[in-house]
Amino acid sequence: MKSLKELFQVGCGPSSSHTMAPQKIALFFLNRFPDKKFRVTLYGSLAHTGKGHGTDTVLKKVLGADTEVIFDTEEVNIEHPNTLDIEVLDEGKVVLRRRAYSLGGGAYSIAGEPEVITPEVYPLNHFSDIKAYCLEKDIRLSDYVFETEPDMKDYLEKIWDAMTDSIKRGLSAEGVLPGGLGVRRKARFLYLQRHIDESPETRENRLVCSYAFAVAEENAAGGNIVTAPTCGSAGVLPATLYYVQKTRNVTRDAIIRGLAVAGLIGNLIKRNASISGAECGCQAEIGSASAMAAGGLAEIFELGIDQIEYATEISIEHHLGLTCDPVAGLVQIPCIERNAVAAMRALNALSLADFLFATRTVSLDTIIEVMYETGKDLNKRYRETSEAGIAKLYRTPDKGV
Ligand code: SF4
Repeated sequence: MKSLKELFQVGCGPSSSHTMAPQKIALFFLNRFPDKKFRVTLYGSLAHTGKGHGTDTVLKKVLGADTEVIFDTEEVNIEHPNTLDIEVLDEGKVVLRRRAYSLGGGAYSIAGEPEVITPEVYPLNHFSDIKAYCLEKDIRLSDYVFETEPDMKDYLEKIWDAMTDSIKRGLSAEGVLPGGLGVRRKARFLYLQRHIDESPETRENRLVCSYAFAVAEENAAGGNIVTAPTCGSAGVLPATLYYVQKTRNVTRDAIIRGLAVAGLIGNLIKRNASISGAECGCQAEIGSASAMAAGGLAEIFELGIDQIEYATEISIEHHLGLTCDPVAGLVQIPCIERNAVAAMRALNALSLADFLFATRTVSLDTIIEVMYETGKDLNKRYRETSEAGIAKLYRTPDKGV
């Protein structure tokens, strides 16, 4: 597996697949052809939801405002659901044409160009092998991460600062999110709703959800967030960790350990399945984020390795089949609320795993495989095309459904 630095990246939302990777591809060509003009054709999910996600905006920002961006929603003969063609133009004539792919989580590849091969840092690619290694050496999962990537603690310190910044920014912001749907920011409102007779459970729910809303709304507004594992699902992990840090006397060192395990879980899913909504539906984004949060929390509270495995397995298992159908291609409905619900599910998975791990019957490796198979079986209309589900039937409230 690759470094966790490839999983956790700080960048602008709203989408790692639709803005971060296209931005990197555009920069690649701009650096190579600084004096030329460009034309970009988007296919698959990039074509269907690129407008809402702001793919054209980011491409024009990098390549120039006069860059022609074509949304080809008809072409079905594509190798990857997030495909684009980029043409380099010299006085209107095409001098180079390349096909590129946005692979999820901000990763990309360009056909015909030498692959930028980043090193395989982790020799073990399955949880069962990592677990056996940790048990043999009597170390925790976070120790395994720090043993494999000695500079990871410093990196995760910066990641945690960026995550908490995004929560704080989101909690202080108000108003309507961009894109035309008229979705109001709700994080601050939720955060401030204190009632005298509020139960501890309601308070937990309200606070965790407000933190998740804060990050997801920042992402929807194009703010700076951390992919965890993606932009669309960036609120789940920071919300849960921030909540326990604030309320349970959890040290910063424990949070960093939690992030390390969360990253390891995300990396396993990325390696053996997918973290891309266009490839495997929202289960691959929000389901993965929930599993990362559950694993991270279990590490923070120093649960055993079987309990960590169970907590993550539960989170994936009960997001199986979750479709990706963002209304108008914007990462707002259902995405923002979904971050909050997935954060609560991670907390729920943690407590179930704490008590019931001895009766666990499904391994983490198996459920990751199941998630991938399920994602491949999902009709492509439910894989970030905005052609079905809530994206299709949604009506603005004043018109009624
Ligand atoms: S529905 Fe899920 S996978 Fe799709 S854009 Fe929203 S958060 Fe991402």
